[in-house]
Amino acid sequence: MCGIVGYTGNAPAVPVLLDGLERLEYRGYDSAGVAVVSRERGLQIEKCKGRLSALREKLDGQPPLAGTAGIGHTRWATHGEPNDVNSHPHVSQNGRVAIVHNGIIENYVEIKEFLLHKGVAFRSDTDSEVVAQLLEYCFNDHSDPLDAVYAVLERLEGAYALGILCADRPDMLIAARKDAPLLLGYGDGESFIASDATAIIAHTRDVAYMEDGEVAVLTRAGVQVFDEYRRPIEKEHHFIEWDVSAAEKGGYAHFMFKEIMEQPEALRQTISPRLRDGRVVFEELHITAEDVRRFRRIFIVACGSSYHVGMVGKYNLERLMRTPVEVALASEFRYSDPLIDKDSLVIVISQSGETLDTMAALREARNRGAYVLSIVNVVGSSIARESDDVLYTWAGPEIAVATTKAYSTQLALLTMLGLWMARCLDRVEQTEYDAVVSELEALPAKLAEVVSSTEIYQYLASLYFNQECIFYIGRNLDYALGLEGSLKLKEISYIHSESYAAGELKHGTISLIEQGTLVMSLATYGPLLDKAVSNIVEVKSRGADVVALTTEEHRQRLEAIASHVLTIPRTHPVLQPNLGVVPLQLFAYYIALHRGCDIDKPKNLAKSVTVE
Ligand code: GLU
Repeated sequence: MCGIVGYTGNAPAVPVLLDGLERLEYRGYDSAGVAVVSRERGLQIEKCKGRLSALREKLDGQPPLAGTAGIGHTRWATHGEPNDVNSHPHVSQNGRVAIVHNGIIENYVEIKEFLLHKGVAFRSDTDSEVVAQLLEYCFNDHSDPLDAVYAVLERLEGAYALGILCADRPDMLIAARKDAPLLLGYGDGESFIASDATAIIAHTRDVAYMEDGEVAVLTRAGVQVFDEYRRPIEKEHHFIEWDVSAAEKGGYAHFMFKEIMEQPEALRQTISPRLRDGRVVFEELHITAEDVRRFRRIFIVACGSSYHVGMVGKYNLERLMRTPVEVALASEFRYSDPLIDKDSLVIVISQSGETLDTMAALREARNRGAYVLSIVNVVGSSIARESDDVLYTWAGPEIAVATTKAYSTQLALLTMLGLWMARCLDRVEQTEYDAVVSELEALPAKLAEVVSSTEIYQYLASLYFNQECIFYIGRNLDYALGLEGSLKLKEISYIHSESYAAGELKHGTISLIEQGTLVMSLATYGPLLDKAVSNIVEVKSRGADVVALTTEEHRQRLEAIASHVLTIPRTHPVLQPNLGVVPLQLFAYYIALHRGCDIDKPKNLAKSVTVE
């Protein structure tokens, strides 16, 4: 999920690799490393936790790593905390191969057990190391490296971009890809691989994008590419028009926009390793069905957008589990003398895993004997370490201050957890269970549909960017969704915004609706559509302009009453907010863009709030 660069040619590899990794730094990472291969010295590796500067310092303090072929990596940990040993490249037991990997090997436990049984000793806690070890193991039966690579790929499940070096092939580099980006670069007497063109554009603009299942063999003489059945193929070349500066954000104007667009992939990374044979499977959890049966109350504790995830979670968990759920702001919870005991489950949610208020709430909960399960994006973070159990969102690094893909992945994971616990309690009908699972499978593709066209949001932003105040109204899940939509808008556009439970409007706030006030009416929750329609009529008759968000099948009905209608595909109600949030993110983004705001770094806000 982070960065890969690889080189084979006539120049020393290390400077090319370090330069490439530097250009990938903007993606965020927690450790970095390089490996090179030469006839005289075989494989040589240097890697460490921290910034690239730490790696450079290590390299400067020793004789140069010799070799004109090499691989480099910036890691964003998913399995195993960020430390020197878990950094990539990973080398096989007898030093025959070194690999770098982006993505997640979903069946790594099974492969690791198989190899441990064969006497292979592992060094790291990563999923990635199994690739290096399995490859060396496959060399027992296959002397040709390409044969061995194909034998390995056949056994891997999950997502990978791989760069591979073999100790006895000093000018060769092998690359393979499935569900993680990887491209090939063609130079004069040199070839490259990279997870992102930014890494190699200083050397070549002649590139080809690898497709799933393809394997490439790169040498000084050129690049050969094979499909999944090992048939040689001709790749279509692309010439990169933009220069290095335009590529800083992978071609996007803002990290926030890039991260909005990454949501289908982030969701896939979060969901698919945890679905097996039509069931939700959490291999990483220690909590048992018996524990779940013991919990009489569930608390969801978080701050900001993660708190809004909790608001959706309350509706969903109560619906699926029929267990009382309370959502609390971490900063309030810790001082509220909460009524928790050993029969309580406390779910804490934090993107960074370092949010101080959430951390303090976690400690309070643990002191009172509760079972603490955290949902966190950053592996090895403080909250992850101090929880009884942790579910990682695997959203990849999130750089924009206003969260998008972390929110989406937290939301999906919390719903999956609810479904899993409901199963433990035997409280969910099989048909309902199957329906949610099948919609979870379809969710990344449906989300890809939502992000595929942005014109309508640009248009709406051009109409409404000068509003002084924007209201969000909705009921049930749409109310929870509105809280996040309104926060997104406030955070990045500095427009005052209120989110209201639609039925509550008439108890006060409706007095603020004037001619031309914009009301975002969220009407994605089918069972309450009639109520939503009444609320739209209510605000319209006081002069409001209404933008309605609904599912495709209700477009016509809402078009008859709202000023504009946004639609999303229909999914199971518990997952509908996962699709509904994206139009709200895009709307906020384009409004902020029109207003010329510093979208990625809004004033007064920090990405990870580690103060009280
Ligand atoms: N899953 C791998 C790890 O945790 C690769 C992470 C990445 O893509 O940076 O080491």
